[in-house]
Amino acid sequence: MTEHRQVVVVGSGPAGLTASIYAGRAQLSPLVVEGEPSSTGDQPGGQLMLTTEVENFPGFVEGIMGPELMQAFREQAARFGTDYVTAKVSRVDLASRPFGLWVGDPGAAEPTYTAEALIVATGAKALMLGVPGEERLLGYGVSTCATCDGFFFRGKEIAVVGGGDTALEEALFLTRFADSVTIIHRRGELRASKVMQQRALDHQKITFRWHSSVVEVQGDTTVSGVRVRDTRTGDEEDLAVAGLFVAIGHQPNTDLFKGQLAMEDTGYLVTTDGTRTNVEGVFACGDVQDHRYRQAITAAGSGCMAAIDAERWLEERHAGAA
Ligand code: NDP
Repeated sequence: MTEHRQVVVVGSGPAGLTASIYAGRAQLSPLVVEGEPSSTGDQPGGQLMLTTEVENFPGFVEGIMGPELMQAFREQAARFGTDYVTAKVSRVDLASRPFGLWVGDPGAAEPTYTAEALIVATGAKALMLGVPGEERLLGYGVSTCATCDGFFFRGKEIAVVGGGDTALEEALFLTRFADSVTIIHRRGELRASKVMQQRALDHQKITFRWHSSVVEVQGDTTVSGVRVRDTRTGDEEDLAVAGLFVAIGHQPNTDLFKGQLAMEDTGYLVTTDGTRTNVEGVFACGDVQDHRYRQAITAAGSGCMAAIDAERWLEERHAGAA
C-alpha cells in the first residue's frame, strides 16, 4: 500500500535533518528515509556519525562529538513532526506526479511512498584505493572510520592514507590508541588546512611518508602490512602495520538519480536558483551537491534552504491550482 506525503527527505545527515526541522515547523509532516547501515560505511546520520570531535559547529564552545550532534538534530526534527523510516530508497520515479519512491523491491508495481516535493540529501561516501587486499580486509584492519575502529588498534602501529583534513583528523584521533601512526601521502605537500597540518606535524606519534602510494594491503585474515611505492623512484617497500585507514576523499551518493537528475561528471547533483534541481519539485542539499565546502554547517544551511524552497514551491503550486 502506497503512503502519500507532501514532503519526503532522502538522507539523514545535517542537510536532511535540517530540512526536516524546517519542513516540520512549516507543518509539512516530512518523512525522512534515513538510510541503513551497510558494510561500505553507509549509515543513518551521515558522515558525522563517523567523526569524533566537531570543533567548528557554531554554538558548541568546547566542541561536540559527531554522533551526539546528529542525535540532537534527529530529536529536534522529531519534535516538529518528522517521521523516520530506517531503510534505503531503491528506486525513484521523478517523471510522474506525485513522485514515486520505492523501498525494498525496486521491481514492485507500486511505489512505497509518493511525494509532492522531494528533498535529496543523500550525502557522499568514502573513496577507496582499489588496491589488492583492500576490499578483502575491509573490517579486518582496513577501515574508513577511525571513530568506529580506533579502539581496536590499542598499542599497534598503523597507517593512514591521504593528505587532506580527513586524513589528518583520523591520524590525530588514532594517536589516542596506536603506538605510532604513519601518514602515507602521494605528494610532498599536504592539502589539509594549516591548523591541522601543524597539529599533525607536531605530534610525536605521527610520522609522514611522503611521495608514496599504497599498492597492496597485506595480511591473511587481518592486516599485517602494506606495500608502499615511492611515486618518484618506483621503489617498493613493505611497512609492517596492523591497520590501514583510508582517508582519500568522497563520492556523492547519486546512483539512484542517474538519468533523472542533472549531475556533473563527478556525480554531484547540479542545483541552480537555491537548491532547485532540473526536475521541478525536487530539491538537493548538502554534500550530494557540494564538493566545495563539504562542512556540517554548510550542509545544514543548504538543508534549511531546500526546505524553504520546497515549502514555497508547494505553496505556489497550491495557489495556482486553487
Ligand atoms: P580531500 O579531497 O580534501 O583530500 C583527499 C586526499 O586524499 C588528498 O590529499 C589526495 O591527494 C588524497 N588522495 C585522493 N585520491 C587518492 C588516491 N587514489 N591515492 C592516494 N591518495 C589519494 O578530502 P578530505 O576527505 O580530506 O576532505 C574533504 C573536505 O572536507 C575538505 O574540504 C576538507 O577541508 C573538509 N574537512 C574538514 C574537516 C574539519 O574542518 N574539521 C575535517 C575533514 C574534512 P592530493 O592532495 O595529492 O590530491
